[in-house]
Amino acid sequence: MFRGLVTMNDPCPVCGLVFQREEGYFLGAMYVSYLLSALLLGGFYFAVKSAFPGLSSAAAPLVALIPYLPLAPLVFRYSRVFWVHFERAADPNDLSAGAYEKHRWRQAARRRPPGRS
Ligand SMILES: [Zn+2]
Repeated sequence: MFRGLVTMNDPCPVCGLVFQREEGYFLGAMYVSYLLSALLLGGFYFAVKSAFPGLSSAAAPLVALIPYLPLAPLVFRYSRVFWVHFERAADPNDLSAGAYEKHRWRQAARRRPPGRS
């Protein structure tokens, strides 16, 4: 799905799957990202609070951000991976493809070298 840390391939270079089915498609991944971030930050917060019990309630969330920040690109990446899998599992049928997705298929088919479907 990705060719860099946060750079996406779209469509898939192996099977030609169009990841972004419609404009705003990855808005759903933001919910996944929010959930992942909340779990990570919550975990780091309680780890910081137990490691440094004297730390104030205002400082502990800031300290919890330190181990979280390097993970932010991974949260972005895997929230999109999860979203694509979740959404495709919920609605795998090509018949539901909207005009935008069909347009993207045609674009992808034009760019694909001949001999690959
Ligand atoms: Zn693929």
